[in-house]
Amino acid sequence: MGVHVMDEAERCLNCKKPMCQQGCPVHTPIPKIIQAFKDKKLAEAGNELFENNPLSVVCSIVCNHEKQCEGHCVLGKKGKPIHFSSIENFISEAWLERRETPMAEKKGIRAAVIGSGPAGITVAVELAKHGFDVTVFESRDKIGGVMQYGIPEFRLPKKIVAGEVEKLSALGVEVMTNMVIGRVLSVDELMEMGFEAVFIG
Ligand code: SF4
Repeated sequence: MGVHVMDEAERCLNCKKPMCQQGCPVHTPIPKIIQAFKDKKLAEAGNELFENNPLSVVCSIVCNHEKQCEGHCVLGKKGKPIHFSSIENFISEAWLERRETPMAEKKGIRAAVIGSGPAGITVAVELAKHGFDVTVFESRDKIGGVMQYGIPEFRLPKKIVAGEVEKLSALGVEVMTNMVIGRVLSVDELMEMGFEAVFIG
């Protein structure tokens, strides 16, 4: 695996106008990450991935790469595109436990995130990083949304989703399950409880 991903990285042309990056919905800085990986700067590559996208491991597995980064790679016009999903998966899995998350000073502002699918988790991580006190409200008994209930185990092992839950806790995000906003509590009631911002995922 290690040899394969480094071979893939070595083939990258480090394009000035990286079409791969344009094809990525979250604009992962692909050539920069590949270059750091080639230079054996795993920390730099890993932190760059997670800074850009907290769900890097998940995306490396379940994104539609053939239509996105790999489908846009310039090398794919005449031959094989760079298999960035393998490179991303290798780096993000290696760096998952060691990723560094710089935290801003606490603002004393409560934010509610309704829904704990990919959008909710990403927003919760970003808000927590920016100093908000975040509570995630999930209507079901486990968090993860489509990652928990929609994608089968053989495509996305649940232990990866569990890792994302642990990360939320480590960032101080409170998670409340079995909370159907609109039925158990309304958005107006959340505001009365002191939440100043609400994200509905
Ligand atoms: S388009 Fe392909 S060759 Fe160019 S930087 Fe992206 S991955 Fe590398």
